[in-house]
Amino acid sequence: MSKRQEAVVPDMERQIEIMQELREISLSLAEQPLGYVDTYGCQQNESDSEKLRGMLVEMGYGITKDENLADVAILNTCAVRKKAETRVLGNVGALIHTKTANPRQVVVFCGCLAAVPETVDTIRESYKHVDLVFPPSQIWRFPEFLQRVRNEKNRVFIDDDVEGEIHEGLPLHRDNGVKAWLPIMYGCDNYCSYCIVPYVRGRERSRSFSVIVDEARRLVLSGAKDITLLGQNVNSFKSDIDAGSHDFATLIRAINEIDGEFLIRFMTSHPKDASDELFLAMAECEKAARHIHLPFQAGSDRILELMNRGYTKESYLEKVSRAKDLMPDIVLTSDVIVGFPGETEADFLETLDLIRKADFDAMFTFIYSKRPGTPAADFPDDMSRTEKQVWFEKLVDLQNEISERKHEGYIGKTVRVLVDGEAKGTEYPLRARTNGGRLVHLLGEPTLVGSFADAKISHCNNWSLFGDVV
Ligand code: SAH
Ligand code: SF4
Repeated sequence: MSKRQEAVVPDMERQIEIMQELREISLSLAEQPLGYVDTYGCQQNESDSEKLRGMLVEMGYGITKDENLADVAILNTCAVRKKAETRVLGNVGALIHTKTANPRQVVVFCGCLAAVPETVDTIRESYKHVDLVFPPSQIWRFPEFLQRVRNEKNRVFIDDDVEGEIHEGLPLHRDNGVKAWLPIMYGCDNYCSYCIVPYVRGRERSRSFSVIVDEARRLVLSGAKDITLLGQNVNSFKSDIDAGSHDFATLIRAINEIDGEFLIRFMTSHPKDASDELFLAMAECEKAARHIHLPFQAGSDRILELMNRGYTKESYLEKVSRAKDLMPDIVLTSDVIVGFPGETEADFLETLDLIRKADFDAMFTFIYSKRPGTPAADFPDDMSRTEKQVWFEKLVDLQNEISERKHEGYIGKTVRVLVDGEAKGTEYPLRARTNGGRLVHLLGEPTLVGSFADAKISHCNNWSLFGDVV
């Protein structure tokens, strides 16, 4: 096992000063400058984008959703699968047009792809309109980098990827007042053999327990009703910045003590760290949502071992049944990869069997994508994409069947939901989530946004429920 990274909380003083300086410049302009942030990938990136927008606002920028109007255009990228990478590179290429129209536009490339040396070289050589590149660990230094781009009138590439830092105190700009992301740890030490995350997000490090609980309290006071604790491996949270040592179950219990009507969610849990203490804390805390996203990735023990996942099919299913014993109404979702190098038909059948036994409410299915630099990239892989696609479709069909059956079970029932937004241009004007996180399209008044309501479910499809406010 790798050594736990000792966390270092950097001094934010200099960044705050620079934000002030840039704010004065923004205020002196005839028109307020605008910032645009395009986010790819996971919730961690969504959360990082809230910080980027927060820093832009602090520096006097307005926020736009139109890259053509942007004075600073940021792409916060994802490196997990090749497809995401191709899409990002296409979109960064397209920014050449906005930059040609407005040569003073600053184009920023950050997020996980900005920590992949080969991609950074490609940006340096072939995407000359990109002005600034920095990896995820350096996000807190964005004001300093932006000032350098402006002062030096040169491209700035940051590769001093200091791994152990935990930034605190960055301003946030949140789009949705009801739902809030709350990062509790960064990085990953698991080194699943297919995954690039440990290489681009650095070593696992947890934020201070008391800082997190205070932040949760502030979020509740500001009206958040649905707080998602975030981490690549959220349930291996172990904070020793404060006196004593606190684990994830203790954190859930502490946040549960905060006054107010709100839900605690978390993403993503690793099965090897899904402990009995965690399930007990969930079962005993009334604010802990009855949902766990527990990626299993494969059903064959041989493949799980090649993936370096640290559990077996049997131990995974035991954890699932323990969670269901303690919380019969729990919603269980998962991720699976098909076509891992060397996967055979027999291995694939184990995956189908696990899916049937676990009886997931929903599942995200991915075809294996080779990530250079990861161990699995060197494993022999002689299966064609077409063959993998056939397996992929079988998995999707099986899960759709299960999801549909589970969703049909809601029809006619009245469930408590949190109305978290409006859905414009559809027959159902409200968007809501059940306690277990299932999406509900709802008929009701827009004034309900931000509140809990009872909804009677009338019909469903594989992915969502439809209903009326009672
Ligand atoms: N830390 C989280 C999320 C990791 S990325 C976790 O461990 O669950 C989200 C999902 O992408 C993973 O669960 C996995 O199913 C998928 N994934 C990661 N790397 C992949 C790869 N190289 N090819 C295909 N899918 C991948
Ligand atoms: Fe990647 Fe595995 Fe870490 Fe998840 S736990 S981020 S899949 S290495």
